[in-house]
Amino acid sequence: MNFDTLGLSAPICQAVAAAGYTSPTAVQERVIPEALEGRDLMVSSQTGSGKTAAFMLPALQLLTEPHPVHGRGPRVLVLVPTRELSMQVTKAAETYGRNMGRVKTVSIVGGMPYPAQNKLLQAGVDILVATPGRLLDQMQSGRIDLARLQMLVLDEADRMLDMGFKEDLEAIVARMPAARQTLLFSATLDGNIARLAGALLRNPARIEIDAQRAKHENISQRMHYADDMGHKNRLLDHVLRETDMNQAIVFTATKRSADELALDLHSKGFAVAALHGDMNQGARTRTIQALHRGRLRVLVATDVAARGLDVQGISHVINYDLPRQAEDYVHRIGRTGRAGRNGTAISLVNAREHAQVKTIERFTSQAIPVAVIEGLEPKVRAFSRPSGPPPRRPPGKSRGNSSGRSFRSGR
Ligand code: AMP
Repeated sequence: MNFDTLGLSAPICQAVAAAGYTSPTAVQERVIPEALEGRDLMVSSQTGSGKTAAFMLPALQLLTEPHPVHGRGPRVLVLVPTRELSMQVTKAAETYGRNMGRVKTVSIVGGMPYPAQNKLLQAGVDILVATPGRLLDQMQSGRIDLARLQMLVLDEADRMLDMGFKEDLEAIVARMPAARQTLLFSATLDGNIARLAGALLRNPARIEIDAQRAKHENISQRMHYADDMGHKNRLLDHVLRETDMNQAIVFTATKRSADELALDLHSKGFAVAALHGDMNQGARTRTIQALHRGRLRVLVATDVAARGLDVQGISHVINYDLPRQAEDYVHRIGRTGRAGRNGTAISLVNAREHAQVKTIERFTSQAIPVAVIEGLEPKVRAFSRPSGPPPRRPPGKSRGNSSGRSFRSGR
């Protein structure tokens, strides 16, 4: 299948071809035709599956027809949980809409100075990409009129609920025209998301592409046991010098440890920067741009970078600290292996964290093989054993360890 058969107009297909896409991904193949028919959709798809284009291309198609009412308010609103995702969605709109003449895309996120935002809004908007809190702020000060809105997209809706945006979302939607199309994207479609969809969508088609727990088959996962911090740092140093290492994101549990580790790696000669929520928007943007341009080899980040960040050069994701939630593990490792490439995800684990590893393995239904690096073996032999049988098997019934075999990687 190719993009020409999906019902998109020529300027959009040309922009997609110029982006180097030869055929639609699974989520694009399912979502685009249904979205072009005007249906409400609830879609579960894996991070990195091409979901941004799945909603952005139909949104742009909508803009090829003039709106019956003149005005400055947006015709498409994309709500996203984080500033990083907002930047990425905005960039996607610009990339795919480049041959369409004038499509104004504006991003409204927290942390940005109000005067600059106000100016952007006054100039008129076609596609507004926003985080819920700041959008609601701007709506309450009368700067955004949603009367012309035709399409609402909720991107990473599960994450928005996790971040406590439910009431903001409801308040925003209450001020929109009822006759709009709503597309909801989420890692999962059950529980709270189903309730949200019930309230905001009309008779939606449900499209499930990859369950969130889908195996990241293009990402090779492993873990190393570390005896103490010194050992962990030596393992990290070794991994960052592996020959197939292009760029890495190293995840830490706290903002402070992200800063400290970045300083430490800098002193060891790595082109490194930290990224976390205490940095102002300008600094975050500059850091991500430096990563995109290949000026940084290592980004040390908190979970602020676990979702949305899309840098194709990331060959390695390293969990210096394990994530608190198993679900975040999936999002973190999804930062590598972008757009069909291969990636490596490595967790540096203390013996005390064994239970956390098990929780992650149960969540992903995949065992994470234990690896040992020659010369950097953990002292306690018990911890260099395989990580055990795949989860979901009743305790005490372990059978072999073919998927969890430990391996040695040479220096
Ligand atoms: P997303 O899931 O939207 O974050 O997209 C993940 C990555 O896939 C991005 O780098 C996109 O540029 C890329 N991508 C999206 N659609 C396609 C496609 N049809 N063919 C190849 N790459 C794509």
